[in-house]
Amino acid sequence: MIPVNTPLFSGNEKKYLMECIDTGRISSEGPFVKKFEKDFSSYVNRRYGVAVANGSAALDIAVQALNISKGDEVIMPAFTIISPAASVVRQGAVPVLIDSCSDTWNMDVTQIEKKITKKTVAILVVHIYGFPVDMDPILEIAQKYKLKIIEDAAEMHGQTYKGKMCGSFGHLSIFSFYPNKHITTGEGGMLVTDDQSLAERCHALKNLCFIPEKRFVHHELGWNYRMTNLQAAIGIAQLEKIEMHLAKKRSVGKLYHKLLQDIDCIDLPLIKTSFAENIYWVFGIILNKKCKFSVDQIIEILAKNNIGTRPFFYPMHLQPVFKKMGFFKRERYPVAELLFKRGFYLPSGLGIKDEEINIVSSVLHKVLQ
Ligand SMILES: *Cc1c(COP(=O)(O)O)cnc(C)c1O
Repeated sequence: MIPVNTPLFSGNEKKYLMECIDTGRISSEGPFVKKFEKDFSSYVNRRYGVAVANGSAALDIAVQALNISKGDEVIMPAFTIISPAASVVRQGAVPVLIDSCSDTWNMDVTQIEKKITKKTVAILVVHIYGFPVDMDPILEIAQKYKLKIIEDAAEMHGQTYKGKMCGSFGHLSIFSFYPNKHITTGEGGMLVTDDQSLAERCHALKNLCFIPEKRFVHHELGWNYRMTNLQAAIGIAQLEKIEMHLAKKRSVGKLYHKLLQDIDCIDLPLIKTSFAENIYWVFGIILNKKCKFSVDQIIEILAKNNIGTRPFFYPMHLQPVFKKMGFFKRERYPVAELLFKRGFYLPSGLGIKDEEINIVSSVLHKVLQ
């Protein structure tokens, strides 16, 4: 079986984990958590990092920390994982969706301004699969309308936009360290910011809003969204190897491009844009009009050939849970719908071997040509 994702542990993961066990420091109180916050936030050029239990938790905290609440509108892509929309909806706020660009698959920034109303308070940017969102127009709009920016960089560790680190654009930016991300802690996430008071608020929110002066007295509700020392130990070891991880991702992308370019019923991801080079968080492909199979059929055929795949995101405006809540009635986002209908991704984890990519390619050739 060639799984859709295999993580890679090639450094000090075991050593640092053993340190946790040997010293008994396994909870969120351990020293690796602070070090990971410091090392990772400085890697993405931010002043503060707040390590949390996962990326979705980081989004919950970000939305709450920015005081987004009932009736507020937050602009975000239709084509995304559900986490950003869920965090907004849970606070009683309203996600306002933007369709994707058909080339980068990211939110089409030219459609943002006409969706801004008096209730708009924030833009929730989600960088998707390989490319950052075109940030300059967003920064301009945010300034013009005095909107907050939350940046979901869960798929973008080490990616840059015009040479500037992804994760350095939001008032609050978040990362995930799930095992399919560029670096992993098993489960894990981090908020990063340059704003000290926001960082302190995030620290409080992830820790049940305990106050230092009087333990067990609470002025606000938080969560237990703490990251453990065990997770941070793995994170530090992974971060030491991040440049190698990124190089590996790019070499996987390059090899797939070379091997698959002659199959004319699939469209391959862009290699670069004017502002970034593809980081290939996943290697997504689109079945174009020449393809006689549906995504479901291809996924099934590949599974029978022991190749793991994933379909693309299911757009937010089609989600049964949001429809039930009365959101997005009669809204259409044709590019997001097309991506979901025609797109899926191939095995592209950090642990994948060239032989495995060759096998995936030859099966695709056999099936599609
Ligand atoms: C993975 C991911 C998340 C969620 O992170 P978890 O750690 O799995 O909760 C959020 N946003 C995007 C864009 C992601 O890819």
